Amino acid sequence: MDFEDLKNSVENCKFCKEKFGFTPHPVFWGEKDSKIVQISQAPSSTVHKTGKPFTDASGKTLKKEWYKISDEEFYDTKNFFIGAMAHCYPGKDKHGNDKLPPKCCFDKWILKEIDSVNNKMYIIIGARAAKCFFKDKKFTDLVFNNQEINGKVAVVLPHPSPLNKKWLKDHPLFVEKRLPEIRIMIQECLHN
Ligand code: SF4
Repeated sequence: MDFEDLKNSVENCKFCKEKFGFTPHPVFWGEKDSKIVQISQAPSSTVHKTGKPFTDASGKTLKKEWYKISDEEFYDTKNFFIGAMAHCYPGKDKHGNDKLPPKCCFDKWILKEIDSVNNKMYIIIGARAAKCFFKDKKFTDLVFNNQEINGKVAVVLPHPSPLNKKWLKDHPLFVEKRLPEIRIMIQECLHN
């Protein structure tokens, strides 16, 4: 399947409708030659409504504080392919928390997308997404050292969600030392 067919199929996918109990809204953002493939967990309820990734509190932290890039740069699909472990917001559990992303989406779509983009680097966001790519490695080691996916450099970030404050507090070197390194890698990737 070529990239445009893949994109079209994802955007029209309703595979999880019964499981969710509502009509899925697949969010697809990127193109065949996006320079950076970014994979996080799943769209939030806000993104389910807007159809645009990272338009929530996590997105504000990621774009403004961590990457320090403008919305114009971030949402330019020549720069970023913005994916997740699942393309759709999965709904809430009985405790009012977002459900985990459906596993089927990763095998059904995400792996194919990753193989079809001619990117230069990967950014993997959050421990759950990291587990999909690096099953046996400790999350902290993944964050503080460059990794590799498909022979290309990959960096792993903690989730920028306001719910993840404890990890950031326990690992101050992430903001002080690792983030500046990652910012340089992103800038070099976007501008070279
Ligand atoms: S989560 Fe993935 S597999 Fe499920 S409906 Fe959305 S696009 Fe389809």
